Amino acid sequence: MLEVHQLNAFYGQAQALFDVSLRVQAGEMLVLQGLNGAGKSTLLKAIMGLEVRTEGQIRWQTPTGLVAIERWETHRRAQAGLGYVAEDRRLFTELTVRENLHVAAGKNAKALEARALDLFPVLKTLLNRPAAQMSGGQQQMLAIARTLMTGPKILLLDEPCEGIAPVLVESIRDALLLLKREGMALLVVEQNRLLASRADRLLGLVAGKVGGS
Ligand code: ATP
Repeated sequence: MLEVHQLNAFYGQAQALFDVSLRVQAGEMLVLQGLNGAGKSTLLKAIMGLEVRTEGQIRWQTPTGLVAIERWETHRRAQAGLGYVAEDRRLFTELTVRENLHVAAGKNAKALEARALDLFPVLKTLLNRPAAQMSGGQQQMLAIARTLMTGPKILLLDEPCEGIAPVLVESIRDALLLLKREGMALLVVEQNRLLASRADRLLGLVAGKVGGS
């Protein structure tokens, strides 16, 4: 479980999040919505310890109990099971699909790769293709698959379906729902109805504050 309690986030002097609280359980999908600039991306970055300064609590369920992680470095949060896919996907575009997957690989790389490729079978046919030569939807699948190589327990996804052809959105949705059924927690910024309509709960952000649930 991920628990965020009264989180404030700042870019320099500018405050972007105000007392945001939320909770995501294993096997649950919480979808974050809000207008441009509402703070959705900032919330995911704050949870990962990226770019923004934060005040407030972020707690994460580890095998030894619920621990405060808000002072941890990003890589430690990732090692503890938080997987993040940024809006711009951050792929190595010159590298092939397989190379992108193995950049992130740790222990159990073979099993994790097999699992990621089962979830996104189209990637199996593109293993030797540079990411730059893939469609936006295929790149998004690769970005999620690469994050799965770290063995996360929660996925934080920033607009995974934006600008992607509906048939590929359906593939991504189905893969995420399968992961969810297996106990993955999902915190997803998404406006696309095909995915957002499958949320267990919606959380609205308005000008950096929780404005609905
Ligand atoms: P979008 O749908 O456009 O991605 P969002 O809801 O994800 O919007 P954020 O990107 O989190 O919104 O932005 C929240 C606020 O923080 C905005 O006022 C934005 O201008 C500001 N902001 C975002 N990134 C930075 C940054 N790197 N430096 C300073 N201010 C930032």
